[in-house]
This record gives sequence, structure tokens and C-alpha cells, in this order.
Amino acid sequence: MNISTILDMAAEAHGERIGVVHGDMRMDYAAVRERAQAAARAIEASGARYLAMLDVSSPAVPIAIFGAAYAGVPYVPLNYRLTKPEINELLARVAPAYVVVGEAYRGSIEPRDDLRLVSRAEFLALPPAADAPLQPDEDPRAIAVQLFTSGTTGKPKAAILRHENLMSYIMGTVEFASADATDAIVVTVPPYHIAGISAVLSSTWACRRIVLLENFEPRAWLDAMRSESVSNAFLVPTMLQRVVEYLDALGESPKLPALRALAYGGGKMPLSTITRAMALFPDVDFTNAYGLTETSSTIAVLGPEDHRAAAVSDDPKIRRRLGSVGKPAAVEIQIRDESGKVLGAEEAGLVFVRGPQVSGEYESLGSQLDADGWFCTRDRGYLDADGYLYLDGRADDVIVRGGENISPGEIEDVLLTHPAVADCACVAIPDEQWGEAVAAAVVLKPDARVEPAELQDLVKARLRSSRVPQTIVFKDSLPYNETGKVLRRVIRQEFAQCSR
Ligand code: ATP
Repeated sequence: MNISTILDMAAEAHGERIGVVHGDMRMDYAAVRERAQAAARAIEASGARYLAMLDVSSPAVPIAIFGAAYAGVPYVPLNYRLTKPEINELLARVAPAYVVVGEAYRGSIEPRDDLRLVSRAEFLALPPAADAPLQPDEDPRAIAVQLFTSGTTGKPKAAILRHENLMSYIMGTVEFASADATDAIVVTVPPYHIAGISAVLSSTWACRRIVLLENFEPRAWLDAMRSESVSNAFLVPTMLQRVVEYLDALGESPKLPALRALAYGGGKMPLSTITRAMALFPDVDFTNAYGLTETSSTIAVLGPEDHRAAAVSDDPKIRRRLGSVGKPAAVEIQIRDESGKVLGAEEAGLVFVRGPQVSGEYESLGSQLDADGWFCTRDRGYLDADGYLYLDGRADDVIVRGGENISPGEIEDVLLTHPAVADCACVAIPDEQWGEAVAAAVVLKPDARVEPAELQDLVKARLRSSRVPQTIVFKDSLPYNETGKVLRRVIRQEFAQCSR
């Protein structure tokens, strides 16, 4: 019940197999273990209580994850896109810390006596430990990872994942050494996101080659997929959308003969993107994975069979499943109303989850699980009669107009059907009469024109009048975070500034 077991077992079963690839650097699993052990000794010698990392993806990431586990300290990756004050505020929360920092980010850290700064190059060149391997702490309740959430809905929260949470997730979802010698995965999500960490853990457990890309860009992704004959990939929706647009603009077929499985998740996938991706990659197994930081990653999965059935079926019930996140994976899921009453099939409410991979715990707030071990995801949604979960936005994004709850997603889905609309996001703005009203930020397709009244009429024709955006502004682009979530709080602030 310590995540270092994952690397120990991979190194023992397939030590000679390439575990990590980054540019020209290739490291077999035995070398990854040796370096993680060296890292653990260095962390121990520094007296640090955390291993923090401020860098893009590199081989330092798996070494840091497992090195911290051997040393018995939490791994704390930081978002390198934060501002300098934000980064230093987070570092102050984890000092004394051993901090692995990429050269590009060294200037973002204010020197402090209780931070031991180590460059990525130094970290990767640590000499092998001469003494016997460090035996990790066997306490399953020890903290493996402390992860700051994306901060999509507010300030980042420090989610805590214990060894038992991550091990339950890996063992519940991946078979040990199940990859064959040629299998590889490209990891494009940043190292501070749970999807990046779970990709490293699950691929090591499967003994699969992990190809790390520093930044996502469709051409570089396709090149890496081809040159490494990659079999598996995970993309957040905006990344898949960019790959699809890139291939469509070239008028090229993707030519990725080794690719077998493409998983996506981390945010809502537009139907048009997944439909087009399935047409471009007809032989690939698609999986939609829904998960949260606080749940150690995936909690519901829409698998390849459901994707294929939805694409060819005449039955509307089966077709619409492409818009669902599938069925609970190794957890239980319940839908409850605001008062806590458990709802039945097709009734929309808050999504609750329970299972050993669910930590539901934050550094300063403590455990947020209820007495029966359930965690409220703050996502809204419903389960259909067949047990498929449909998400309907986040509770914190709901617009409350005169006591009526309005999900921005339903209005956005209608606006996106207009041929001139490329992207849009609806948010709440203050309203004297109703408390809150709907405002829409809309991005038009190149050279397209449309009047706000036409878009308001479109919504009026399809939805109740309370859904019609009172204000519509046109923008060149919407703010997104790096995992593809639209930042509604930023859009709300922009509306607030405009109305001042
Ligand atoms: P914060 O809690 O600070 O606002 P965050 O919730 O954005 O940050 P994450 O834990 O990265 O941080 O995101 C989890 C959320 O992402 C889920 O609650 C859900 O809203 C969304 N999500 C994840 N996977 C999917 C998916 N497959 N389909 C739709 N939405 C998804």
C-alpha cells in the first residue's frame, strides 16, 4: 500500500524494458528505480518534509513521484503557469521542501532558507545510492501526493491523496504488467494535474513505455505518436479538438497504425469533436474517463463498445450515450438533491461518489467525506435507467434566476448550433429584479457575423424564456486553463468590469 511498490514490481518484472522516453533520453525501469532511490536519499539528507516540483514534463516527474514515495514525503507538483506571488504562496505552505525546478522557472522562486532548490539537470544526475535501498513507510494512510486543484471555480485547494487511495485506484483499474513489450503511451497533460500522475502510475504498473511531451501541440503530438509507435494516448477535450482541426485543415488521414486506445477526459467533450475523431480514427478504442483530483482520477468510464454502438445505432437511447461519461468504474455513484435526499434514475442533482480511491480531503479543511464515506463532487448530473451518468455542469456555475436553477451548459449547447458560433460560455450576472441573469460570451467563426437578437431568438425558440441571455458580448477567444476548462470566473469578472 505504498505507490513505490508499483515501480519496484515493474523494475523486478521488466527491469530491462524502456520505462521513460523524453526527446533522446531513454531510461529502462531498472534505471528509473535506481534514480528514484538516489532521489529519496537526497530528499532524506536535506531534511525536507515535501518534494515540490515546478517544471514541465520530463523524466524528473516519474523519478520525483517514486523518489518522494521511497523517502516518505508527499510529492507536490506546482502549476508553472501561476504568477510568481501565487507560486511562492504555495511553496510557503509546504516548506521545508526539496524543490526540483526547471531552468525556465528558477526566477519564479523567492529564495528561502527552508527551500532546497535543485535544478532538473542536477536532480537527474544524482549519483546512485551506495547503501541498501530505502524501505518505504508501510503506513497506507501516509500522504503520497498533495495536489493543488485547477482552481477552475475559485482558489486552488490542496487535495491530499494517500497511498491507499492511489493504490486502490491503480489496482482497481489496471492489470499488473498487462502491456506488451512494444506498448507505449504519450503523456501530454502537465505533471501537476492528476491525469498526469495517474498516467505515470498506471503505465508503470502496466509496464508500458511512457513518452513524455513538454508541451502539447498537434504536430509534435502526431510526430511523437508516429516515431514511438504509440499504442495508447490520453488527451483532454481541447487537445483532441486541436488534433482533429489540424488533421482536417491538412486534409490528411492520421496514419497512426500503432494507436489502439485513445482515452479522453478532464472536461466536457463536444459531441462534434468526438464524432469527428471517431471518423478519423475508425479502428481506435475510445474511452471517456470522468474523474477529479480528490478521487485519485477516474470514477466513471464510457468504454469503446459504447462508443461504437452510439456511432452506428438507430436507437436514440444508445446514440445519446456519446454525451454521457459512462458507468461508475471502481466506485459507487449516487445522485442527491440539495437537502441530501438520494434521487432516482433520470432525476438531476449533485453527483456523490464513494470508494477506497476517494480521498475527499484537503490540507487545511480536512476530510469532506460524510459519515457514510460519500464525497460530493460539486458536479451536477443524473443517472439514466441503465446506470449511465450524464453530467450537467458544476453546481458552482449554476445561474440562479429568481430561484430557478439554470445550467449554463443547456444554453451553450443551443448557441453552438448556430452556424456562426465557434465557442461560447454562459455565466451569471447580477440582476436587480431576478437576483441573477444569464450573460453569454460568444466567439464567432472567422468572417461570420450575427446580431445578438438572432442568438437570443434561437435560445427563445428552443428553451424557456428564463434561459435567454440578457447580455451577449462577442469576444476573440474565451479563457481556458491548460486542461481545457473554460474559466467562467474570469468571464464573470469581465462582465462585472464592463457593467461598472
Ligand atoms: P477546482 O476544484 O479548484 O475548481 P477543478 O475541479 O477544475 O479545480 P479537477 O479536479 O482537475 O480540478 O477537475 C475535476 C472536474 O473536471 C470534475 O469535477 C468535472 O467537472 C470535470 N471533468 C473531469 N472529467 C470529465 C469528463 N470526462 N467529462 C466532463 N467533465 C469532466
